[in-house]
Amino acid sequence: MSQSEDPYEDLKITTGAVVEPNTSRVNKTGSWRQFKPVIDAETCIACGQCDTFCPDQAAKPVEGEDFYAFDLDYCKGCGICEEVCPVDAIDMIREVK
Ligand code: SF4
Ligand code: SF4
Repeated sequence: MSQSEDPYEDLKITTGAVVEPNTSRVNKTGSWRQFKPVIDAETCIACGQCDTFCPDQAAKPVEGEDFYAFDLDYCKGCGICEEVCPVDAIDMIREVK
């Protein structure tokens, strides 16, 4: 391949394009979900790890409480929150549709 050939030509993307942040708040990804996270509020220590690592910003603190909850419209059920929770307060359960 010569230096002048574009290796990304077949991909139909603009090299170096920057995607706007927070696009996951535009797309409701909840309909993709096979599993959903369930928090044990008694066990949650409100550390915020699930919020930090959730790719869809679906984990948020519950106002006035010491635990977190999920906005299931945006949760795609990836299970990252369950993996990162330091106190095992989250269980992924199969979605019933
Ligand atoms: S399952 Fe994935 S998308 Fe849903 S709240 Fe947890 S980290 Fe976010
Ligand atoms: S990671 Fe676990 S303990 Fe921390 S806020 Fe989320 S559910 Fe609570």
